[in-house]
Amino acid sequence: MSNNPSPTGPILPPATLGVLGGGQLGMYFVIAARDLGYHTIVLEPDPACPAGQHADAHIVADYDDIEALERFSNDCDVITTEFENPPAHALSFLAHHTTVRPSPQTIEIAQDRRLEKRFLNGSGFPTAPFAVLSDATLPTQSDFQFPAIVKTARMGYDGKGQERVESLDDLAVVWSDLGGVPCVLEELLPLQRELSVVLARGVDGSTACYAVTENVHINGILHTSCAPFSGQLATQATELATQIAHALEYVGVLGVEMFVVNDALLINEIAPRPHNSGHWTLDASHTSQFEQQVRAVCGLELGDPSMTQAAVTMVNILGDSWVDGEPDWNAMTPHGHAHLHLYGKNEARPGRKMGHLTVTAATVDAAREEALRLTKHRE
Ligand code: ADP
Ligand code: MG
Repeated sequence: MSNNPSPTGPILPPATLGVLGGGQLGMYFVIAARDLGYHTIVLEPDPACPAGQHADAHIVADYDDIEALERFSNDCDVITTEFENPPAHALSFLAHHTTVRPSPQTIEIAQDRRLEKRFLNGSGFPTAPFAVLSDATLPTQSDFQFPAIVKTARMGYDGKGQERVESLDDLAVVWSDLGGVPCVLEELLPLQRELSVVLARGVDGSTACYAVTENVHINGILHTSCAPFSGQLATQATELATQIAHALEYVGVLGVEMFVVNDALLINEIAPRPHNSGHWTLDASHTSQFEQQVRAVCGLELGDPSMTQAAVTMVNILGDSWVDGEPDWNAMTPHGHAHLHLYGKNEARPGRKMGHLTVTAATVDAAREEALRLTKHRE
């Protein structure tokens, strides 16, 4: 075990890799790391979390428990995160004791929609028109268009911490509904599509992009992801995501969510970790986004991100599917082109991500149709 904040060479097995957070993203990181011969430690307060079931050690503690953070940093050669919300002071404490990738500064940008949008616009990347809301009297921009969406600046995910607002008159009520915390107010845009690019950037600045993915959200939660999305917009999306990774001097796996409006791309948000829309890489890519995260944070050469299948669709399985008892898993896996993944969560709450189904096929349409048929969803 080393206390080396800036290793000069690659971090090789059997070094110990730490991950902040114990959800499914952390679980797949741990599985990929173990596969490559690394030891793994998870820090996460929930003793029953998915990643803790697979790691060599699970430190059950809050993210701001300094004694736990000290033990964690002493025992890990590099630490990464599976969610964007570790407290800033915890990240900087860890970074003083060991290597943290991506950098705490990057994670802090991604965990606050105000900083994120300022970074994006300041670096020349287009976003939806927005205003920062510290109280309910904004926006000051006279050309701001309603309806709009108020999003809490911090801690939002899966559409949580967001509310639609029809006019300036309703803003005060919506803002106080959301707790009166700092927010961003975004114009509600007529989205033609939603796309995402998941990519890795290595310590040496090399990048590896996965196929552009088209996403459908229902009630703010990702429902389906289809890849590859091709054409001129896809080329532009890949270029934009790569430029964002370079601008951040990013090290790790980055998810970039984009909107298509009037045939042009806007950046919605960035995730400093593997992304739900990249789960298909577990079944349809030479290197999964989780193996890629291990490679990137350890300073190894990045793996081949290209697809092993012509087309793929992933459908999320939410806790809602348990309304009539355990879903019929057998019906979801009738052939070798359907891959079921369950995260081992013990409580199926509505809207909670419990697993996903991936279906590969010769075309995106065929993959989508079969994935929706098997999960009995209709778009
Ligand atoms: P989260 O952090 O919860 O993923 P997002 O900002 O990505 O929050 O919003 C979730 C989803 O809500 C988006 O993927 C999109 O479908 C919808 N959405 C968010 N912002 C807008 C907007 N400005 N206009 C239209 N739809 C939006
Ligand atoms: Mg999002």
